[in-house]
Amino acid sequence: MLNLKQNEAVKYTPAQKLSIDNLINNNPGKNGTELWKVDGPNKEFVKIKEHIRTHYKKIQKLRCVYCERLLVYGDDQIEHFVPKKNHKRFLYEPLNLTCSCCVCNNFSNKGIKETIEGNEVMPYEENTFKYVHPFLNDVDKEIRYKDPFKLFIDKEHSTPKGKKTIEMFHWDNDVAASNRLVNRLSWCLSPKRRRLFEKILNFED
Ligand SMILES: [Zn+2]
Repeated sequence: MLNLKQNEAVKYTPAQKLSIDNLINNNPGKNGTELWKVDGPNKEFVKIKEHIRTHYKKIQKLRCVYCERLLVYGDDQIEHFVPKKNHKRFLYEPLNLTCSCCVCNNFSNKGIKETIEGNEVMPYEENTFKYVHPFLNDVDKEIRYKDPFKLFIDKEHSTPKGKKTIEMFHWDNDVAASNRLVNRLSWCLSPKRRRLFEKILNFED
């Protein structure tokens, strides 16, 4: 799992921020899932979502925030750590957003899975989260490995929050370990080969 820095979270222009605030405040009857589908009169939310996706793919170096596999074009979903349906105030909250692969996005099916302990509070970072948070936790302290290459999960020595996260994503098995091996190896490529790899994955010329 990636550990992201809070100051790397996506930033919005004042105009984007105003559009987001208006969307959330002016639609009391709609839940977050419904609001996420709103494109806006000039497709402004389509552009904002593209801005979010591009930003996180860049800071995550094209890796899924959870399993770290390379994000292939079309498999680079905007992930809401706190589910969007019942937490529309965090729909465009920068610290609530990352990019993940569809496998992790489905595993973490947060439309169903509540990630906040108790009631939602403002600001976002004041909430107590049930699972390891890529921005707000020290991932290496929460999730432990048995080996220096971080292939085999050490559930026993992980924190309670780490254990819950491991269980949610089914990271504690041999298939997950071999997937991690492939992911780690791809990061050992030379920058030139890595760039070629990225171009292929993103259908660039
Ligand atoms: Zn993933």
